[in-house]
Amino acid sequence: MTRDAILVLNAGSSSVKFALTAWEDLAPLCHGQIGHLGSGPRCEAFGALASHFDPLPLSRDARHEAAVAALLARLQDIPGLRLRGAGHRVVHGGAQHGAPARIDARTLDALEALSPLAPAHQPHNLAGVRAVAAAAPHVPQVACFDTAFHRTQPRVAQTFPIPRALTEAGMIRYGFHGLSYEHIADVLPAIAGPRAEGRIIVAHLGNGASLCAMRERRSVASTMGFTALDGLMMGARSGAIDPGLVLHLIRGLGMSADDVSNLLNTESGLLGVSGISNDLRELEASADPRAEEAMALFAYRVVRESGSLIAALGGLDAFVFTAGIGEHSAAMRARICAGLAFAGVTLDPARNGRGEMLISAESSAVPAYVVPADEETPIARATRRLVAE
Ligand code: ADP
Repeated sequence: MTRDAILVLNAGSSSVKFALTAWEDLAPLCHGQIGHLGSGPRCEAFGALASHFDPLPLSRDARHEAAVAALLARLQDIPGLRLRGAGHRVVHGGAQHGAPARIDARTLDALEALSPLAPAHQPHNLAGVRAVAAAAPHVPQVACFDTAFHRTQPRVAQTFPIPRALTEAGMIRYGFHGLSYEHIADVLPAIAGPRAEGRIIVAHLGNGASLCAMRERRSVASTMGFTALDGLMMGARSGAIDPGLVLHLIRGLGMSADDVSNLLNTESGLLGVSGISNDLRELEASADPRAEEAMALFAYRVVRESGSLIAALGGLDAFVFTAGIGEHSAAMRARICAGLAFAGVTLDPARNGRGEMLISAESSAVPAYVVPADEETPIARATRRLVAE
């Protein structure tokens, strides 16, 4: 019996996350990640077919190309399995990509040209594409963009108040985490009923964190902007700060552009404020008052940015938590919901503690939900659609 499948890849700087999905019904067959690329890579795999990938023979210095080649070689060894397409998470699609795209040489060139806008992610994402093209040139490939979901935003929400020549040159608010938001938009009607079409805020709170305001399940505003550094406080990223502070770091303290980039991308956020960790679990376990201060600031930033999105939406009909912190930290959800009381959110502490899907009280004017993040399913679905066309 042949079984058709789609490979979903999310290639980062030192890891390649993968998921294998059945073509017919998009059921998960296996998922995992090859971590520590370039420094003794190891593969961890879960699900029905996991034993084919764990362990995966890789040399100590293997990077994306070798890791993906080894993965594809194992896939080809699974009896009856036929790979129909590979779908990639690609962080940046630029202004021109409002939907997933089949990858050919021209698309790849256009996506390479966007690398300076997302240097920490885009080159690695595209390394995954090149690795599949080298190891399995006949497998059709599809790129799914974190920016695409936000291209429905009105012009006013995408525009910075800067000289218009810069706007026309592409310096706009792109927004990110779009695949996560697309998944929430897909499943929300089954969870919230007709309310799903209303004024919704989705809080994607992981190591990276952002909010998306949706109406009729389309993005109308988001907290991330030209880069994924804007908006909320994150694990190690500052989020929005006064641009005048950046100028002061350069002119007043003599920092280089690279120094400022490191400071704001890797030494700030929960890590910078606590001085302890970027991992919320460690802060929750700590008695250090700096940990408390970092967590309080994280919640405050979510509430303040939510206020801005509620204004953009003209009200709020539901609030949704997703990703690592949103799904697992009842304490952080409680802090945030307390701050959203003004908007009509009343938490049910018992439901929140149990991590149920609906965590607000029956009497809450605005329901609050917890929905697990799933960035693979939208990629698999789009890949199937574009390959079948
Ligand atoms: P990424 O953006 O890297 O995909 P995740 O969505 O996995 O990140 O989220 C990582 C964050 O979720 C970390 O701050 C981690 O501490 C937090 N987290 C995960 N599980 C828990 C938990 N049980 N309690 C509190 N925080 C958690």
